[in-house]
Formats: sequence, C-alpha cells, structure tokens
Amino acid sequence: MNCMYCKNENLKNDLITKSYEKEGVVTVISGVPVLICDACGQEYLA
Ligand SMILES: [Zn+2]
Repeated sequence: MNCMYCKNENLKNDLITKSYEKEGVVTVISGVPVLICDACGQEYLA
C-alpha cells in the first residue's frame, strides 16, 4: 500500500501507544500495530 498523502511506498510496521479521551476518562492502549509512512510520518492502523 502507498501513503495516501505523499504516495510514498515505504511504510514501516510499528507499535504505538494511543490514548483516547471520552467524557473526561482517558483510556491508554499500548502496542497498537500501525504502518507509518517513512516520508511524512502519517500513521495507518494496520
Ligand atoms: Zn506519506
């Protein structure tokens, strides 16, 4: 797959930590698998 923003083909697999806030409660999810664009840093959920 290519980056939808810069058309770069080099997306690397990584694990990130995401946090969500809903109604004042913060939920942290670690080890979320994503693809990250080498060129512009855009993240895509894998
Ligand atoms: Zn990109």
